[in-house]
Parts: sequence; C-alpha cells; structure tokens
Amino acid sequence: MPAARARKSLGQHFLVNDRVLDRIVAAAQLAVGDLVVEIGPGRGALTRRLLSQGARVVAIEMDEALAEALPARLSYPDNLVTMSADARTVDINSFVGANESYKVVANLPYYAANPIVRRFLEGEHRPSRMVVMVQREVAESMTASPGRMSLLSVATQFYAGARMVCSVPPSAFRPAPKVTSAVVCLDILPQPALEESQAPAFFDLVRAGFSAPRKQLHNSLGHGLGQPATVVNGFLAEAGVDGARRAGTLSLDEWLAIYSAWTSRNAS
Ligand code: SAM
Repeated sequence: MPAARARKSLGQHFLVNDRVLDRIVAAAQLAVGDLVVEIGPGRGALTRRLLSQGARVVAIEMDEALAEALPARLSYPDNLVTMSADARTVDINSFVGANESYKVVANLPYYAANPIVRRFLEGEHRPSRMVVMVQREVAESMTASPGRMSLLSVATQFYAGARMVCSVPPSAFRPAPKVTSAVVCLDILPQPALEESQAPAFFDLVRAGFSAPRKQLHNSLGHGLGQPATVVNGFLAEAGVDGARRAGTLSLDEWLAIYSAWTSRNAS
C-alpha cells in the first residue's frame, strides 16, 4: 500500500538519511532494556533503530492512521507500545512508572517542538536525557553560551546541560522542510537550578531582563519589573553584575545571583 501523503499541518517531514538517524541513536546512548519515549514516530524510521538497540519504546503519535499502522510496519515487535495522543498534553505517568527512568528521543514536529520539550522539562517526572531534532535556530538558542543567550537558553539550561549533536540539511527529510534543522542532546539535571516553587519568580525576573534585549540590563530590568533605578542598581551590585551589560551576555549562574539578591532585598 503506498504511504499516505505527509500532513503539513502535523509537521510531517520524515527522516530519510541513515547517517542522521544513526547520530540520533548514538547520542541517546541506549542500553538493552532502557525505556525510550519517542514523540511522533511517523513511518517508524527512528523507531526501528531504537527497537534494534533493545530499548523498550513507547511511541506517541498524534496522527491516528500512522499510529495504527506503526506496529505492522515494524513487524509487531514485543518491545513497542504505540499510543495515539498529543504529546503536548499527554499524561506522562500513564506510560512511565512513578520512579522509572526514561529517555526521550524524537524528530519533533516544528510547530509543537517548544511546548513538547517544555512539557517534559518542566513536568514532575523528567526524563534523564532528551535527544531531539528541532529547527537549527531553536537548537542554537537552547545550547547558547553567554554572549548569545536568550530566554530559551536560560529556560533550557535551568533544567539541563545542553549540547549540539549535529546540524541537518533539508535534504535529509521527505518532504524537505524550508529550514535547516539540528539535533540537540539535553542531559536533565537531577535537580533544576532552583526549587520548583521559585521557578515562576525566577522566570519573571529573566523575562523582565529580556523584555528589551538591546537595552542595558538596569534599564530592561527596571522597566520590566516596574522598579526604580536605585533598587535595580542595588540588587545588581549585590549580585556582582554590571548593569550596563545586555541580557544576552549573562550566564545562568549570573541570573541566579541576581535572583538571589533581588529576593533577599524583597524579603528584608
Ligand atoms: N519520527 C519520524 C521521522 O523521523 O521520520 C517522523 C517525524 S515528523 C518531523 C513529526 C511526527 O510527529 C509526525 O509523524 C507527526 O504526525 C507527529 N506529530 C505531530 N504533532 C504531534 C503531537 N502534538 N504529538 C505527537 N505527535 C505529533
């Protein structure tokens, strides 16, 4: 039976390059019996390789027809469970045991990459590693160093060590997307950089800092937080960060130092 047309609305760009598929699987560093959650298995090119490593794979596919066809395409392997669901809202605990360690490996649909990554990073039951294909700009932002940091860089590195695996040209997919892609590897930290309860206030601060990224930090923070210059300069000095810098030059540790100085001021 010929394969159905790719559904653009679901970001269906199927990987057809063996070398890229091998790079993704190698970055996942799988051992026999590892539990892998694959988002968007599509026609199963990546799933087949994950299964051949001896991993137990839970494949979550939003396209019902593809989800239904997957087990037959792969000759009904024992180590595959397929679910037809939206990975942006799926309940992770419905397919991963409470204390079970797992990895996420996926060629993500671009339109939903951000909410899907956030769901796994910010959820209560995080994977130990995520190896995901996203748009190259998104990958660069996730893995950026001080000088090129964005809100997404801080939000990713708050939860994970992030590194670029490889850049992937449009020709590696059918149909070819318009943009270049990249694979990133996120090693999830045993604990996020701050306690869960502090994350919303921390990100309010970082968001304020990036609200006008071309402005100097003391201006963007003053404006974003609605605080006078004396207050902002006070907590920046306490954190040891020069207020004349731009938000993109700060490391995660510097954001954490500013947060600590800001909250201790608010508390006193
Ligand atoms: N893994 C396949 C490959 O590499 O060839 C397909 C990757 S394709 C870029 C993205 C896949 O994600 C498609 O099969 C699409 O149907 C599926 N998908 C799209 N949105 C989804 C969502 N919200 N939840 C789960 N799967 C989704």
